[in-house]
Amino acid sequence: MPEITYANVAEAARRLAGVALRTPVLTSRQVDERLGARVYFKCENFQRAGAFKFRGAYNTLSRFTAEQKSGGAVAFSSGNHAQAVALAARLLGMSATIVMPRDAPPVKRAATEGYGAEVITYEREREDRESIARRIVAERGATLVVPFDNADVIAGQGTVARELLEETGPLDFLFVCVGGGGLLAGCAIATQELAPNCLIYGVEPEAGNDAQQSLRSGHIVRIPVPRTIADGAQTPCVGNLTFPIMQRLVRDIVTVSDEQLRAQLRFFAERMKIIVEPTGCLAAAAVMNQLVAVRGGRVGVIVSGGNVDLAQFGLTA
Ligand SMILES: *Cc1c(COP(=O)(O)O)cnc(C)c1O
Repeated sequence: MPEITYANVAEAARRLAGVALRTPVLTSRQVDERLGARVYFKCENFQRAGAFKFRGAYNTLSRFTAEQKSGGAVAFSSGNHAQAVALAARLLGMSATIVMPRDAPPVKRAATEGYGAEVITYEREREDRESIARRIVAERGATLVVPFDNADVIAGQGTVARELLEETGPLDFLFVCVGGGGLLAGCAIATQELAPNCLIYGVEPEAGNDAQQSLRSGHIVRIPVPRTIADGAQTPCVGNLTFPIMQRLVRDIVTVSDEQLRAQLRFFAERMKIIVEPTGCLAAAAVMNQLVAVRGGRVGVIVSGGNVDLAQFGLTA
């Protein structure tokens, strides 16, 4: 298994310089007063393509060989990974093919095509997306880019915590949402180097606490695809690369309910004037609901993305 170190995160940061946005770190006096802590929100909802996923995708694609580059990238995703790979491919002058279910939200498909990717759809019930992706790899000489269990993806995601800590200095706590664990693993590697005393917590939706079960039992636990509004965290299990990093560096995983996510989404919109997607609310919801005692501490919260489907709020075009 490739060892992923802080040096890999620092290299990723150099590749991303001038390409990924250095997203803002917001604070809220209201939040700090309520919690008796100093809370720093790292706002990846403002990242290119609307989520931190652009970092890992660009870092990965920028390391392709000339041969890989001519074959292009392929990914299966209907979410932020699709848009991230599509945009990174366009910026690096290669083609991208994205495999998504036919019933994916039209806005997501349009956004992915808007970045110049070719979208291939499949029937969720009848077809297997992995075999479709494998066929494209074979036919086109394309390279499959996975969303989290890849060393270059993990190193790229780690640049989020690196930037945060560069700006805030050492923190006592860091909260990061978990799907497959790419963001958490990368951020944990960066944090161990830059703030070795910081306690790192992962946050999952209550309905899909596979990472919590895995960390507590010491082996990767697989669950059925969870039902939750946090669609970026609907992964059945964490990765073979991300899990050992979590075991080594993450203190615990806590969970929040969909109701707490809705309340957090509303708080971000009303009080902080930012649009955050449900998955992006996970880490903040854990802190605001005081699932971990942070009083008196300096607290980092990763806000992972902002791609909300406004139709869900009754706002149709
Ligand atoms: C993909 C995604 C996650 C989960 O990231 P992992 O690296 O799979 O843990 C969280 N939030 C948003 C907005 C995402 O797009």
